[in-house]
Formats: sequence, C-alpha cells, structure tokens
Amino acid sequence: AGLPYIVGNWKMNGTRAMLNEVRAIDRAAARFPKVQVAVAPPATLIYRTRDAAEIIGVGGQDCHPLENGAFTGDISAPMLKDAGADFTIVGHSERRSIHGESDADVKAKAEAAFAAGLAVILCVGETEAERDAGNAETVVSGQLDGSCPLAEGAVEKLSVAYEPVWAIGTGRVPSTDDVKAMHAAIRAKLVAIYGEAGAGVRILYGGSVKADNAAELLSVPEVGGALVGGASLTAESFLGIVGAA
Ligand code: 13P
Repeated sequence: AGLPYIVGNWKMNGTRAMLNEVRAIDRAAARFPKVQVAVAPPATLIYRTRDAAEIIGVGGQDCHPLENGAFTGDISAPMLKDAGADFTIVGHSERRSIHGESDADVKAKAEAAFAAGLAVILCVGETEAERDAGNAETVVSGQLDGSCPLAEGAVEKLSVAYEPVWAIGTGRVPSTDDVKAMHAAIRAKLVAIYGEAGAGVRILYGGSVKADNAAELLSVPEVGGALVGGASLTAESFLGIVGAA
C-alpha cells in the first residue's frame, strides 16, 4: 500500500544542533521520490524541524488523549498539530512499559490524534518471554484488538509498526520468516477489524533496522516501511536506510 515509508524515531535525543541532520535528510529525500520519509523528533524540536524541512513528514512520539487541561508535562494532539506535526507515534513499547500505558490508553491517544487531524503510527510488539512462550502472534493480535482506533475515517490515516521489544536497540532482528509470519498475522487482524480498508493500512517493521539489513527486511511481504530508532540519529545512517528502501 503506497510508497515505502521510512520513519526516524529520535526518542529522547536531539537539540537544535540536530536541525543540520534534518536539513541533510530533507535535501536527500528529494532524490528519493519513491520513498516517503519522516522523522519524529522530541516535541521541543517539532516546530523547528517543520521549519527546516520542506519534503519530509514531521511527527510527535506520543500525545495525551485529551485536548488540554491540568496535565503537567503532557502534550496534546492539537498542540502537536499546531507545532507543525503531520502524524504522531502512539503505543511505543517504551511508553507501554516505562509509562504503563494500556491498550485502552493507546486507543484513546490514537483517536485523539485523528480528531486533531494527525496521521498515526500505532506500535505493537511482543517481549522476548512472550515470543519464547510461543505467544507472539496472540499478544500482538490482542494489542491490535485493544488499541486500534475505531473512529470514523481513522483507518485511512493509520499505519501499524511491528516492533518486537527484544529487537529494539539490541542489534537483534527476527528472521525474515518470523517477520513475514507476524506481518501476515497483523494484516489478517487489520482486515478483521476494519474490513476491506484494513488491506490498505501500511505495516512498518521496527527494531534494530540499519542500512545493512534494511533491504532484506523491506523485501519481506507486507513490510511497507521501517520505524528506525538509533540509526535515524544521523543523516548518514538514516539515509543509508532510505537508500535501501
Ligand atoms: P532501534 O532502531 O534503535 O532498535 O529502535 C527501534 C524503535 O524503537 C523505533 O521506534
């Protein structure tokens, strides 16, 4: 469904000095018209990133489910939109585990994002113990049941990122067979939830994607792109992945 989508998730990294990387990524993206490129910088840099870039998408890494209120430290979806974001990530495993977010929380965030006019990258993925116990597909399927937004029109602006928790930042990646099986299971679940429209949702892979494994991962059926952490922090390493797409 559509062009390969390569998204950099900077997590809690980046100050204004990173805008040089943004400019370099943006200039290079112009040379890869067959790839859709985006970055999700920390919220403090969204406005500046939008200003520095012409072509690439810019997104948040999380949003609060409500529009505003007494929630010290939180950022709402309309605020991301106002700062220049096109999309937001929700349900990243670091939010689910470190901040205790439930599937219901993630669903509420996704629906808030759509209501604010943002596209959404919804993350799912099993832990190593869950995979070892043979439960990876059941866990991911349950996360999709619990966290997929059901608001009218939401499916058109949804991407799902499969990020096995044990592959994030570890240099370990699942076999292409395991990626293929999981992405097929996610596709089937999306069709079960959304009907026909579920066939058009882009499914990204994330977890230790680098320039040297990107081409192989992106060639797996139903892998429509990559959500990249560590390797998205310099233009050079990120563009190696964009070039492999
Ligand atoms: P790494 O690419 O650093 O493994 O991170 C993946 C990730 O969590 C992207 O959201």
